[in-house]
Amino acid sequence: MKAVVIGSGPNGLAGAIALAQAGLEVEVREAEPQAGGGMRSAELTLPGFVHDVCSSILPLGAGSPFFRELELDVEWVHPDAPAAHPFDDGSALLLERDLDATAAALGRDALAYRRLLGPLVEGWRELERWPLSRRTIFGLRRRLGLHGLLSAARASLAAARPLAESSFAEESTRGWFAGHAAHSMLPLERRPSGGFGLALLTLGHAVGWPLARGGSRALAAALVAKLRDLGGEIRVSSPVDELPQADVVLADVSPRELARICGGRLPDGYRRRLLSYRHGPGAFKVDWALDGPIPWTASECARAATVHLGGSLGEISASEWGAWSGRPGGRPFVLLAQTSLFDGTRAPVGKHTAWAYCHVPNGSSLDRTEQIEAQVERFAPGFRDLILGRHTMGPAELEAHDRNLVGGDLNGGAMDLGQLFFRPVKKPVPYRTPLRGVYLCSSSTPPGGGVHGMCGYSAARVALGDVG
Ligand SMILES: Cc1cc2nc3c(=O)[nH]c(=O)nc-3n(C[C@H](O)[C@H](O)[C@H](O)COP(=O)(O)OP(=O)(O)OC[C@H]3O[C@@H](n4cnc5c(N)ncnc54)[C@H](O)[C@@H]3O)c2cc1C
Repeated sequence: MKAVVIGSGPNGLAGAIALAQAGLEVEVREAEPQAGGGMRSAELTLPGFVHDVCSSILPLGAGSPFFRELELDVEWVHPDAPAAHPFDDGSALLLERDLDATAAALGRDALAYRRLLGPLVEGWRELERWPLSRRTIFGLRRRLGLHGLLSAARASLAAARPLAESSFAEESTRGWFAGHAAHSMLPLERRPSGGFGLALLTLGHAVGWPLARGGSRALAAALVAKLRDLGGEIRVSSPVDELPQADVVLADVSPRELARICGGRLPDGYRRRLLSYRHGPGAFKVDWALDGPIPWTASECARAATVHLGGSLGEISASEWGAWSGRPGGRPFVLLAQTSLFDGTRAPVGKHTAWAYCHVPNGSSLDRTEQIEAQVERFAPGFRDLILGRHTMGPAELEAHDRNLVGGDLNGGAMDLGQLFFRPVKKPVPYRTPLRGVYLCSSSTPPGGGVHGMCGYSAARVALGDVG
């Protein structure tokens, strides 16, 4: 039986491997010259400086049940602490691997943090298998009891601002929590942005926030090697414009790309639903080659590979609302990765790389370089003097790099409640399309954005069930 997988992102490769494991003859077709989708790395600035073009921090990759099962040849590098959040007074809060150590730094909020996160960390082994969901719910109920399960579910579906304000007394804890929740690319007043914050904090304790030594391309290479070991093939520079002939087609593409590829073969209603799928804000990203490590005022920020720059809950909320509503302005909330501090292969000796991005309205052509660098300088005076080279990508450049990044949206579609469980359409099995043998498997299906491969794996399981 023959399968064609369109696209070689983490989901395409995961799906391809699952199909090859089941004995199908698998061919992956990738539009770009390199395989990997959001897992590619390149010398974007200067020779010898390796930058992750998209993803860099891979808690979902290291924690992915399917990737773990594959025993991939990847060296996961764990920074001393998963994430840091500096404040204007020169202090910082850190997400530590240890839940109690994290709580201890939160002062009056220590107990509230332990109460909120404890059950989620306890239940992580069940939660990580979502969307293979029946087992998730039963497993959580067994571990947490009905009351614990209901409270965890309530918190996970909450918006970040009310959750932070009702759970924490300290402004600093609220701001720190907001930085994690803002990864959702949702306004912090919108559900379930709070759940994203909780999920990332839980991952910090249960898995860590590691990076792949050598760049995210090392994870792509390991997946490609695994597929080839199983007899699968990859064809790069091979864009798919028409539905391939195969018993199974897995499409690691955006909903609108699926509609384009399938042309008139899709029923009108389904096609319309694909085309009305909502994308979230885009990203504006800067990569730097640096003459030295970033000189954080709060020196403990150097213990983490990820640093959240936005100060208070109010400031982060305003930034995220601006990106969502199409009216950006003021200081952007900046997510920064300083991977070369922990992986010496990414820069020449004594030099460093870093990337940072902020959220912008979908498709925006605004250049946010100046505002992003001002945010870094605010918490690390002297940063600008270290810049040896710079590379920027707005939504248009991101989409040119990977057509799944529609308008710069890196989550494969808005992750609000309406599109969290049922994406791209409201169907019990959203991977299956009305065309026999054709399945969508990108991050526009559950469980959504991030490098974890679980959309691809889940779609492959549905396909295998269908073909018997
Ligand atoms: C700037 C940025 C930073 C990010 N940081 C992180 C991070 O630190 N951690 C994290 O977990 N996630 C991060 N992400 C998100 C992550 O990269 C994505 O969620 C993930 O890659 C989605 O995987 P996917 O397989 O669904 O799609 P993709 O990785 O986007 O892969 C899709 C592939 O399909 C190909 N394709 C599409 N259409 C066709 C076609 N018609 N024919 C042939 N090929 C086609 C594309 O070229 C692409 O290679 C980031 C994303 C961006 C943009």
